[in-house]
Amino acid sequence: MSLTLSEKAKAVKPSSTLAITAKAKELKKSGVDVVGFGAGEPDFNTPKNICNAAIKAIETGFTKYTPASGTNELKAAISKKFRDFNGLDYAPNQIVISNGGKHALTNIFDAILNPGDEVIIPAPYWLSYPEMVKLSDGVPVFVYGAKENGYKITAEQLDKAITDKTKAFVLNSPSNPTGMVYSKKELQALAEVIVKRDIYVVADEMYEYLTYDKAKHVSIASLGEDIYKHTITCSGLSKSYAMTGWRIGYTGSSVEIAKLMSAMQSHATSNPNSIAQFASVEALTGPQDDMQKMKDEFDKRRVHMYERVKAMPYVDVMKPEGAFYLFIDMSEALKKSYKGENLETSAKLAEHLLNDYAVAVIPCADFGFPTHIRLSYAISMEQIDKGLDRIETFLKELK
Ligand code: PLP
Repeated sequence: MSLTLSEKAKAVKPSSTLAITAKAKELKKSGVDVVGFGAGEPDFNTPKNICNAAIKAIETGFTKYTPASGTNELKAAISKKFRDFNGLDYAPNQIVISNGGKHALTNIFDAILNPGDEVIIPAPYWLSYPEMVKLSDGVPVFVYGAKENGYKITAEQLDKAITDKTKAFVLNSPSNPTGMVYSKKELQALAEVIVKRDIYVVADEMYEYLTYDKAKHVSIASLGEDIYKHTITCSGLSKSYAMTGWRIGYTGSSVEIAKLMSAMQSHATSNPNSIAQFASVEALTGPQDDMQKMKDEFDKRRVHMYERVKAMPYVDVMKPEGAFYLFIDMSEALKKSYKGENLETSAKLAEHLLNDYAVAVIPCADFGFPTHIRLSYAISMEQIDKGLDRIETFLKELK
């Protein structure tokens, strides 16, 4: 036996989002005044009441193993949140708490996929879905949302993409990277197809609290008994409560799927961090004012940034309705040249922006849309303006 490595592991694409962010950090460290639009996490600190609860957990010795799928207290708090906010009935034994949303999603794919099962992923997509599906021995199948439809896919498109190998459909609303939100009517049409064709829907609702204007988050599982049975709902505390480092995510599913995920988790990681679980009970059941304040601030930045970007040359952008990202079509800019060289790809454009203008943006090839870039507004208004000034200057230089 030679010292070969796993083919599956070798096939994983490292996250390009993290690579750009790392390069921007490196430049910053060397003294360059970089503006980073790459952030996938709120720039706010975790609210004080949540931090205090964690301190209490440590001081009172809540520092031991908990049940592998999470504490009864946190499951009860999540069950109540599912009922009050999502209109969903998930009893505590249908809930599995994991080490962040990523871990929760990984558990889902591991629980439902057999080798060769297809998973339909609407593009643009969050770049981790295809890699997660492949790691669970599934096959990602991409369906492209039309720009005219807010980059969302239609029920007809879903229906057409389903084969006898299709096991599941991934629905991410509000969406990373587009910031778009599926309406109740759109979800009803998708639900009809999902039930009729008898596939699972993995509903990633990580940004559910972050919707703006008239957009309202609707959980697809809440639309009827049949679709409820076909859905595994996933969410977490990372984005809504500025708790990305605490690593708490969770799922609501059938008892049968919850048992499978819990068994796998019990061997892979055991329970999620006991202190973070204790603090998450406070996050979900304590005062919600800080969360609302963060959301209001995101909203102000969203409007400001959208207005400014919309007025720039060679770009096309839609006003996002949720999450904290602006998804920008750079097709026109990519037809231009910079310093005598054709731009062609958003990766090249991002490289020039970082090297010559000290602005980090996310090129979206790994999100299934190579002509687009993603800008996060999880940075201060002052940074937003500084960064947008630089992008505007760059665009005006294009020939
Ligand atoms: N789902 C989406 C759409 C995300 O954007 C993210 C994080 O970037 C996650 C899930 C995972 O969140 P967590 O940090 O809790 O693992």
